[in-house]
Amino acid sequence: MGILDNKVACVTGGARGIGKAISLALASEGAHIVLVDVRLGTEADEVVNIIRSKGLRATALQADVRDFNAAQGVIDTIVKEHQRLDILVNNAGITRDNLLVRMSEEEWDAVIDTNLKGTFNFCKAASRQMVGQRRGTIINIASVVGLIGNAGQVNYAASKAGVIGLTKTLAKELASRNIQVNAVAPGYVETEMTKKLSAQQREALMNLIPMKRTAQPEEVASVVVFLVSPAASYITGQVLCVDGGIAM
Ligand code: NDP
Repeated sequence: MGILDNKVACVTGGARGIGKAISLALASEGAHIVLVDVRLGTEADEVVNIIRSKGLRATALQADVRDFNAAQGVIDTIVKEHQRLDILVNNAGITRDNLLVRMSEEEWDAVIDTNLKGTFNFCKAASRQMVGQRRGTIINIASVVGLIGNAGQVNYAASKAGVIGLTKTLAKELASRNIQVNAVAPGYVETEMTKKLSAQQREALMNLIPMKRTAQPEEVASVVVFLVSPAASYITGQVLCVDGGIAM
């Protein structure tokens, strides 16, 4: 018996990194997982197979979170299959780092479209279903960078600050319908995204972390499990930093 038995959870960007860890952690508490990724392949298959090997339901759907209609299509597919959607985790995200003076319009647009508009697209599609159910939980994966800024990431910081504003506003709009909306703001987590950093960028980041170590994806996933669990039933509109103390 898990604390999320028979709950249906949709995790965007669930094929690898933090999204994979969130999918596995929710499943280990009994949730049925629908992972959404822009490309489906061996990584998504592996996540689905691990979950199915525990006797739980898992499906992978291909969708680009930037696509408004695709987001609605994903939610429609989930509701057709499971008749409900209990948990949405907006995790898909990208970086296209550059100093503002060198940043191209494409770099700006790609990050805002994926991180911020993608979150809007899935929140909008999912909240209609959750309002009808009078129950649901949405977790948006932000970043400490959205709170404190970071040179070389104006696009990313703006997108994640936007996600935080969206989270607080949607929490106010949906609280009376018994829907909780919270954000998790990770610091520096070991994934493909952070493998792109140069040694110099890594060192600068390490100097910012009071705990003097990076996080593993599972350390973010366990916080998401808490926030969607009955233990967090009176929490909404919050931004929970999982950052080794960076933003305190
Ligand atoms: P990864 O790059 O390891 O994984 C991101 C996943 O999202 C990939 O599977 C990727 O697919 C998918 N994805 C990217 N664009 C889209 C899209 N348009 N539609 C659907 N899926 C998409 O990143 P992390 O696991 O590190 O990051 C996950 C989240 O956590 C992001 O929102 C990130 O901003 C946030 N975060 C990460 C931190 C870190 O230190 N790693 C720190 C703070 C926040 P594909 O590879 O096929 O493109």
